[in-house]
Amino acid sequence: MKFEYNSERFADLQMLRYQVHGFELLSLQQKLYIYYLSEAALCGRDILWDQNGRYNLRIRHLLETVYLQYAGDRTSDDFRAFEVYLKRVWFSNGIHHHYACDKFLPGFSETFLRNAVQEIGTDKFPFDLEELFPVIFDPEVMPKRVNQADGQDLVQTSAANYYGEGISQVEAETFYQRQKEEYADPAHPLMFGMNSRLVKKEGVLSERVWKSGGLYGAAIERIIHWLRLARDVAENVQQQAVLDKLVEFYQTGDLHTFDEYTILWVGETAGDVDFTNGFTESYGDPLGLKASWEGYVNFKDREATARAERLSVNAQWFEDHSPVDPRFKKSTCRGVSAKVIVAAMLGGDLYPSSAIGINLPNSNWVRAEYGSKSVTIGNLTEAYKKAAHGNGFMEEFVIDDATRDLVERYDDVCDDLHTDLHECLGHGSGQLLPGVDPDALKAYGSTIEEARADLFGLYYIADAKLTELGLTPDGEAYKSQYYTYLMNGLMTQLVRIEPGRQIEEAHMRNRALIAHWVLAHADGCVQLVKHEGKTYVQISDYAALRQLFGRLLAEIQRIKSEGDYEAARSLVETYAIQVDAALHHEVLERYRALNLAPYKGFINPEYIVERDDEGQISDIHIRYGEAYDHQMLRYSRDYQTLPLIND
Ligand code: ZN
Repeated sequence: MKFEYNSERFADLQMLRYQVHGFELLSLQQKLYIYYLSEAALCGRDILWDQNGRYNLRIRHLLETVYLQYAGDRTSDDFRAFEVYLKRVWFSNGIHHHYACDKFLPGFSETFLRNAVQEIGTDKFPFDLEELFPVIFDPEVMPKRVNQADGQDLVQTSAANYYGEGISQVEAETFYQRQKEEYADPAHPLMFGMNSRLVKKEGVLSERVWKSGGLYGAAIERIIHWLRLARDVAENVQQQAVLDKLVEFYQTGDLHTFDEYTILWVGETAGDVDFTNGFTESYGDPLGLKASWEGYVNFKDREATARAERLSVNAQWFEDHSPVDPRFKKSTCRGVSAKVIVAAMLGGDLYPSSAIGINLPNSNWVRAEYGSKSVTIGNLTEAYKKAAHGNGFMEEFVIDDATRDLVERYDDVCDDLHTDLHECLGHGSGQLLPGVDPDALKAYGSTIEEARADLFGLYYIADAKLTELGLTPDGEAYKSQYYTYLMNGLMTQLVRIEPGRQIEEAHMRNRALIAHWVLAHADGCVQLVKHEGKTYVQISDYAALRQLFGRLLAEIQRIKSEGDYEAARSLVETYAIQVDAALHHEVLERYRALNLAPYKGFINPEYIVERDDEGQISDIHIRYGEAYDHQMLRYSRDYQTLPLIND
């Protein structure tokens, strides 16, 4: 059966699914490890809901009860609007937009909800309903989750539940400023305030710490339960030490212990499986101190790693055969291995809207002294890409059916491969001439460096060597990459730029540089043509195009190797920065007409445990295809770890 990346769409949101590649290749012990960590990643969901606003858990209960028990007309406009509202609340883990932080208002009437509640029976709602209606319907009540407006009291005007009633911004800031100043080791500050709600009782401020036995203790106990099970099936003793420390932190809430845990976690790189579980990012607190709960589980992408290794071991061959001047080549060349991971479960503040790359920890001194982990989540990137198939984008911007077929057939394999060539070989190839300052190209350096790596990939993706290594299926595949690369560099990447602006970002500049240089030197083998008022890229000679990429690669390598600042400046200024206003306008209009959802989120897979006759777990397999509402309702049922009121 074909994996379906796209799921439903509502409001400004598109739900996607991601595929956990290679899970079935893992050992049973690793599968169990992932399974237990995944359960731990789901058990903190209620914490995040309560952090996002003190009424969120009650509102969720109210809405879900109506959704499940409403006996009226489920096709009415009111009920349809109600469904959309509930789906948005699920998506945002609360009543404020996940990205914009504004409270979104229901498209149904208060009367509708009041009547529904009456019909179902008010005894089904074990809290004061009257308190909730203005929170849902009145635009003046809790209008923003995180308020950043200068000049206002950010603590009192933010709906996030990190500060108790009656606390002003000045009081909160003073409280934590004092903690910082009184700390004995200022070079190694703790993450003050990270894991607590600040409250005020009889005029005195104190912290209610999130730990077992403390605030959110019930959820934390459940998390600890799964972390302990995970510990027993960890891949190595370092992972066990990491988990022991995390449990100790959850039990004590002690911020020293948190730093110790972080240091152990950064140092554990031997295993395939890794995770995040805890109070992590502080974007939800207007003062940037309190950390929202998130959890996710991942493992090393063996397929992607193997693919990268096949290139890395042949690095010298690629270096020797590249079209650059021999003086600029390395005599011994070693490839680089990039770490690509597969997400196995997303939870808390990473669900359903997720980052595709993660770089932790956040403590500056821990990063400086012990390093950090930085990863690309390959299967989420893939899901974004695959989900875009059939959304009309290629139909709108690719010139004709034959080219669209080509792209349809080869795009995925070529995109990944080009990234691998760029990362594993491109950046590592070539050498500076003796005495050349590595920073000689100054502000143009990063664009030139990215162009060099991209060109290395573009040149080689057409090489028979890749088919020989089993990395491209045939000698046609590269054409898809050539087409989409130029289409992106000349046209479609402009959708990410505001009208009137120029190209700023180094990767975008590099793509524009390559595409526009090629267009200027193509002698007709690449053209921008117009059909019925719309602009398209037309490529008539792919082999000639490869030679152009080779020529530019040789020149860019020369610039880099000799530190030729003037040539770098001239290339970047001529080809990489300017935007043709008319073309930009056209591309933006065509893109807008596609009406694509601006925000996307993910539905998690389900892990199904199989047991043998003795009741022992014999295998775990993955099930996909759960509906969005089903998953959300299941999580609310199975991972309801907190009481509805946590004041
Ligand atoms: Zn790069």
